[in-house]
Amino acid sequence: MSPAADRVVAALRSVLDVDASTFVPLHEPTFGGNEWAYVKECIDTGWVSSAGEYVDRFEADLASYTGARRAVAVVNGTAALHVALLLCGVKRGDEVVMPALTFVATANAVAYCGAVPLFADSEEDTLGLDPDKLADWLEANAKNLGGTCVNRTTGRPIRAVVPMHTFGHPVRIRRLSEVCERWGLAIVEDAAESLGSFVDGQHTGRVGRAATLSFNGNKTITTGGGGALITDDEELADRAKHLTTTGKRPHRWEYVHDEVAFNYRLPNLNAALGCAQLEQLDGFLASKRRLAERYAEAFADVDGVRFVKEPEGAQSNYWLNAVLLEDPAQRDAVLEATNDAGLMTRPVWRLMSGLPMYADCVSTDLAVAERIERRLINIPSSASLGPVFTGT
Ligand SMILES: *Cc1c(COP(=O)(O)O)cnc(C)c1O
Repeated sequence: MSPAADRVVAALRSVLDVDASTFVPLHEPTFGGNEWAYVKECIDTGWVSSAGEYVDRFEADLASYTGARRAVAVVNGTAALHVALLLCGVKRGDEVVMPALTFVATANAVAYCGAVPLFADSEEDTLGLDPDKLADWLEANAKNLGGTCVNRTTGRPIRAVVPMHTFGHPVRIRRLSEVCERWGLAIVEDAAESLGSFVDGQHTGRVGRAATLSFNGNKTITTGGGGALITDDEELADRAKHLTTTGKRPHRWEYVHDEVAFNYRLPNLNAALGCAQLEQLDGFLASKRRLAERYAEAFADVDGVRFVKEPEGAQSNYWLNAVLLEDPAQRDAVLEATNDAGLMTRPVWRLMSGLPMYADCVSTDLAVAERIERRLINIPSSASLGPVFTGT
């Protein structure tokens, strides 16, 4: 075993209070509240599908928690992003800026709109889009054509920017929003990973016209599969509801659909799970914060390994904990040793610019994202690993 691998396994063991034969997953859901009761109620009443009280309640609870005026629940986070991009004006042939360092859903949602990702670099402190580097790139490579930002090389409009709050750590959204304002670019925040992350007391996903959340099984709270769009724009929220519910005009018995729309509704059964999970979110966040603090202590003196802490001035949900290795050559040995020890770890995603379907897209210089890609490892992060799990 490599020395770094030895040290990482030892540090993880010192935090995770499990015997050596127990497998520790990267992130598993915690069901400690009203999940059974709410799901049973759906089954008992027959309201399991595309309408029901839990959908309305989940949307209201999400709006209230995030501070957004409206939330629209949908079938997953990718669908939420697809619809948010369409409603924020992304059209066929447009370019949309996003970090190369993200989960593939961010790029796929852009592609569903017929638009093309434009991959930008990240910064090491936030693991998210670097607003200053983007500003410099735009000055050198874009022009303003009658109010539209245009890529001088490709001639295509650059319509929007999709920042993503990596592993729950907020990007420098205020600086990014200045840059977007200067160039007339819409911001659609991919807040899939950052439910419970705040900047200056404001929930992530509150800066652009719309933002999206995910409730996949590995996220901070889960509905099995699910997602939501949040916005302060009532008209946009109404459009989102219409577009995600087959474009059906409300009527007691008529089936009249007025546009080609999507079946992206979140079933009531899933929303019931979401309501029960949301009730426990504060407890999950407290557990995850304690776990992160213990990792930070355990890795403080480990040579060649740095635990990733929340950026200054921001409050992270610590969805997925991560370490950065000084020496990328140690990465595979660390992955092998930890997984052999039953402590699940994994490398960060491959950069989107390296995937075959996105290899031809325009990229800015990606030096920092490439450095992170070679050195970052996610470590076990379930709320149930924190010492103060508080179910209801
Ligand atoms: C989880 C996630 C999504 C959405 O994923 P779904 O599985 O479709 O809910 C989107 N973007 C990022 C960055 C994610 O991590």
